Amino acid sequence: MADKPKVAFYWCASCGGCEEAVVDLAEEILDVVEAVDIVFWPVALDFKVEDVEAMEDGSIAVSFINGAVRLSEQEEMAHLLRQKSQLVIAFGSCSHLGGVPGLANLWDKASIFDYYYVSGPTVEHGENIEVPEVKIEVPEGTLELPEFWDEVKSLDQVVKVDYYLPGCPPTVKIVSNAIKAILSGDLPPPGSVLAGTRALCYECPLNDSKPEKLLVKEIKRVHEVEIDPETCLLAQGLLCLGPVTRGGCESLCIEGHMPCTGCFGPLDEVLDQGAKGLSFLSSIIDADEEEEILQILDKVPDPVGVFYRYSLPRLSLTSKKEVKLGG
Ligand code: SF4
Ligand code: SF4
Repeated sequence: MADKPKVAFYWCASCGGCEEAVVDLAEEILDVVEAVDIVFWPVALDFKVEDVEAMEDGSIAVSFINGAVRLSEQEEMAHLLRQKSQLVIAFGSCSHLGGVPGLANLWDKASIFDYYYVSGPTVEHGENIEVPEVKIEVPEGTLELPEFWDEVKSLDQVVKVDYYLPGCPPTVKIVSNAIKAILSGDLPPPGSVLAGTRALCYECPLNDSKPEKLLVKEIKRVHEVEIDPETCLLAQGLLCLGPVTRGGCESLCIEGHMPCTGCFGPLDEVLDQGAKGLSFLSSIIDADEEEEILQILDKVPDPVGVFYRYSLPRLSLTSKKEVKLGG
């Protein structure tokens, strides 16, 4: 019998939700396990890094890597799995675009360490204030920690990525479709995002109620509205990013009466998801006077967190480091 294709799963700076998404394949995971040989999956199976190092280059058919890249260890593992794999798939928003952990790029390592270990309001100040060091001497010898990089990166800012599975986390359907496509060899051109090719609005069940020319005079937050489940959320004043977000998620948030926050990322032709979102918002503001426009925009509580929630490391402008944590 021919050898089964070897598959690896790895997590970098991840909340664990993407690992859950694999387990959520439920019965289908049994078919996957039947069809492949899982050779590395730190969250579930006891393989060691040495086991991967001992494999021949290119011997793993596909590595699914979730989470953003924040630590030297994650960068080393990404390079190792790239070397050993025919295909590398960025799994989930954090790997695809930097994700929620990427919002830490508003600060650098020094200010993050200062806040968490020295000046943050929940830190108790003893006599010795210590921040983690890469090497620590203890009576038993030297302990080593991974280096904490100044910036969070998406996976493709570290290694070449063959395909992207978007979402926070990716849905069962797109994961299952991707695995079937990989096993059958029926894959789109390298570099493709394995999800929809049109904006979410096209598949949204509320699309029929979206006005042809949509303008907003007031932006509302979800707790301020009694949501009408039959009407486009944007038409109700909720900042739904469906018009500028890739579809393919089965409108799960909309079905739950929550506006789209953009986790499937931008469409193919868009380089900067946040800039696209901002430009979209400015195109639907129903006001001409600067003061009124600013009043409307004031209702966006955290513009970076809204428009760059999943993609700050992919910001096309240079990132800024002057912001103080807690400030
Ligand atoms: S993409 Fe979402 S679910 Fe996956 S690791 Fe990142 S935050 Fe967690
Ligand atoms: S704006 Fe949001 S709620 Fe309205 S049609 Fe698009 S995805 Fe659906």
